[in-house]
Amino acid sequence: MIAHAFGSHLEDLNGRKFIDGNGSWWSNPLGHRHPRLVKALHDQSARALHVASSLIANPETALLAEEVVAVAPRGLSRVHFSDDGSTAVEVAIKIAFQYWKQNGAKKRTRFISLGGAFHGDTLGAVSVGGVPTFKSAFNELTFEVFHASVEGSNGFERAIEAIESELRDRADDVAGVIVEPLIQGAAGMRMWSTVLLRRLRDATTRADTFLIADEVFTGYGRTGSMWACEQANVSPDLLCVAKCFSGGVLPMAATLATDRLYDGFRGGKDRALMHGHTFSGHPLGAAIAREVLSIYRDEKILEQVGQKAPRLARAFDAMRELPGVSNVRSLGMVAALEVGTDGYAGRRGWAVYEEALKLGAFLRPLGDTVYVTPHFNMPDDTLDELLAIVRESISRTAR
Ligand SMILES: *Cc1c(COP(=O)(O)O)cnc(C)c1O
Repeated sequence: MIAHAFGSHLEDLNGRKFIDGNGSWWSNPLGHRHPRLVKALHDQSARALHVASSLIANPETALLAEEVVAVAPRGLSRVHFSDDGSTAVEVAIKIAFQYWKQNGAKKRTRFISLGGAFHGDTLGAVSVGGVPTFKSAFNELTFEVFHASVEGSNGFERAIEAIESELRDRADDVAGVIVEPLIQGAAGMRMWSTVLLRRLRDATTRADTFLIADEVFTGYGRTGSMWACEQANVSPDLLCVAKCFSGGVLPMAATLATDRLYDGFRGGKDRALMHGHTFSGHPLGAAIAREVLSIYRDEKILEQVGQKAPRLARAFDAMRELPGVSNVRSLGMVAALEVGTDGYAGRRGWAVYEEALKLGAFLRPLGDTVYVTPHFNMPDDTLDELLAIVRESISRTAR
């Protein structure tokens, strides 16, 4: 029971402190209760707590749209606000689907995604998702998707080859391809290359279908650059952002789209995108999200990532020598390794978690995948302490 959260730390009801190695489930870029975010929330609450986004709008949300477009990959000029990562993905799926339906390609109804993908917990997101743990109970409720398997050696390369061949042979019914660029998060921090992402962009462009980048986890500096897509010099047609978007403070998400997509919905009410949540474009969320971008500029957050990422990578690299450890990897402010072979069902990761709690850090393993996703401006000494606890916890649980 966490009663207080401040900076890098969580404090429970008994006053015990833990370093937040999980970054509030990957959503927190600036630490807990950053004073400027607290102030932004306070200031906005003195103006308006909430106004609906139907017929009327609010200035914070409009300004946020402009500001996020300014830092987005080129070509993404339009913003649809929603509440969380799952709905940002739902909206991307619906936009792609409806676009083709009313713009002369009714046959384009099919989506392609990667095996092991996680795109959220609502039904459309579960359909394009590929993690059986989150999916199998709902199989009959989901729509059919071509999942390119990433299992086995060179799994991602073979998956991209499979998509390339699918897009070559039967592209005319494909509405879009959705991926988590460079890192599959919930699948167990599985990393893949910029080269393959670039190839996927080329293949979707050739087939004239949409590339949807789910940057809910990878966006906002997590992988070292503002967007993971940037590292592959890729601009997607649709981009989903949530998690760090609002500093991990409030539910706030966006789906970014190109002018081409936007224009495909003009020309009358019957062509509009019928998707709007009660709290879409929430002014409190927008005020926070604007302040997040402002802090990124003032505190040079991406530069801090550039400086701290090698620290993370070095410490994890050195854990290769620990018994039972395999597949050590890192990218930006994500570092991960396996402490067993059972993946999400694994138990040893949970033993490491228990040890880390005793030593004063909160990790949240994905089964046997032990990882850290700290906030981007965690002080170096706190980061070193966290990494030392990860190491010690793994050593103590070695068989
Ligand atoms: C967390 C996550 C989601 C879902 O976001 P929620 O805010 O939990 O609905 C979607 N895609 C990816 C890649 C994620 O990591």
